[in-house]
Amino acid sequence: MHTKTLAQLSAMLQSKQVSATELAQHFLSRIQGSDLNAFLHVDPALTLEQAAAADARIAAGTATALTGIPVAHKDIFVTRRLRSTAGSHMLENYVSPFDATVVEKLAQAGMVTLGKLNCDEFAMGSSNENSYFGAVKNPWDKTAVPGGSSGGSAAAIAARLAPAVTGTDTGGSIRQPASFCGVTGIKPTYGSVSRYGMIAFASSLDQGGPMAQTAQDCGLLLNAMVGFDAKDSTSLERQPEDFNRDLNQSLQGLRIGVPKEFFGDGLAKDVEQAVRAALDQYVKLGATLVEISLPKTELSIPVYYVIAPAEASSNLSRFDGVRYGHRAASYTDLNDMYRQSRTEGFGAEVKRRILVGAYVLSHGYYDAYYLQAQKIRRLIAQDFAAAFEKCDVIMGPVAPTVAWDLGAQSDDPVANYLADIFTLSTSLAGLPGMSIPCGFGQGDKNAKRPVGLQLIGNYFTEARLLNIAHQYQQVTDWHQRTPDAI
Ligand code: GLN
Repeated sequence: MHTKTLAQLSAMLQSKQVSATELAQHFLSRIQGSDLNAFLHVDPALTLEQAAAADARIAAGTATALTGIPVAHKDIFVTRRLRSTAGSHMLENYVSPFDATVVEKLAQAGMVTLGKLNCDEFAMGSSNENSYFGAVKNPWDKTAVPGGSSGGSAAAIAARLAPAVTGTDTGGSIRQPASFCGVTGIKPTYGSVSRYGMIAFASSLDQGGPMAQTAQDCGLLLNAMVGFDAKDSTSLERQPEDFNRDLNQSLQGLRIGVPKEFFGDGLAKDVEQAVRAALDQYVKLGATLVEISLPKTELSIPVYYVIAPAEASSNLSRFDGVRYGHRAASYTDLNDMYRQSRTEGFGAEVKRRILVGAYVLSHGYYDAYYLQAQKIRRLIAQDFAAAFEKCDVIMGPVAPTVAWDLGAQSDDPVANYLADIFTLSTSLAGLPGMSIPCGFGQGDKNAKRPVGLQLIGNYFTEARLLNIAHQYQQVTDWHQRTPDAI
């Protein structure tokens, strides 16, 4: 049952071949038996209560395509009835008085919550090793990282612990773990999915999105997640659309832009081979390849690692030990209480970013770093605009390598930052991006680790991206492969 896609499970629920309660029980027992550390909080009673409500709705004939489908949320989305930690000691015991808009929307569609998923602390990281609750293991190879920051989300899909999950992507955190774990994920155009109740990292970049086995499943989830929300000041006001409306459209004549900067020296051979084979497959489907240039690609790293920490330093100032979150047990005065609470509550990477952010925003350095980064950010968006004059979609690797070993880079923040090179520019420009499984690599040893193909579209072309991904998934089976133990 757990290897079925969301779309298949939805059909089974509607034809009453399975009940929401049976589905929930099945996935709960898989979660219980898993040693991946993907889930942080599970409440079987709550899950079964929601499943019973979904069964009643199906019986009453008022079900949606998502009613009765289990879903798990990245622990960045706040929930009223489960703890919301953001992977941090700071919020270890935090229970929100409200549900995030994404959580609420999926619940309204009748989805059944399985629990909350591990992630890097405040979504800062690329390996999940920054989680206060320990790293998640990659289901394909338990000695490898699952990617991050939505590592628990990607691992849960890969290990078939859930048919649907949510993630967030600030600089690649949906696409990169999807790539490392061999699952499908989409980060929509910035502003499409409400940020309300998504614990803030870098507000001008943060964007929620789904991960699942297939593009079709991601489209079904996106249909329910996207929409204007007055509670998010950067939420887009647009007509609702069916993101799966064009799934079956032919790719004849599709122009695929292949950025030369994505295929330079830094790209591992095994990743390049899998990505090039995927491009060949697209040519067989009727597409043509066009060489394009995104000249500012390299600058996306320093630009992102100025802007994201700057916004983080401001966003995380709310964790002061007064209103919510961790408060130090002993302190001398108010300032000391702030200092001790934050010293104890935050991990090393979060502190590093707060320091960098406060520095680049400080009076003497604002112009040199923050303002400069904002200017280059605009140029990066202009590079994409020029590229989309020549092509309909951009394709390339998601990351320069397959998943690395647990521990291999945990003391080397810069190595982690550099590995974000192919995902950051999309986020800085606010464009939609996807990762779909396209093969396996070996890394630097005889391992079997998934490779993802990145699809980048122009603003609001999610339906087209899903169509392009779906057509590939009709003629390949990478997305159906599972780790041996599944
Ligand atoms: N790896 C990037 C970082 O550490 C992106 C994280 C994200 O998208 N949340 O900031």
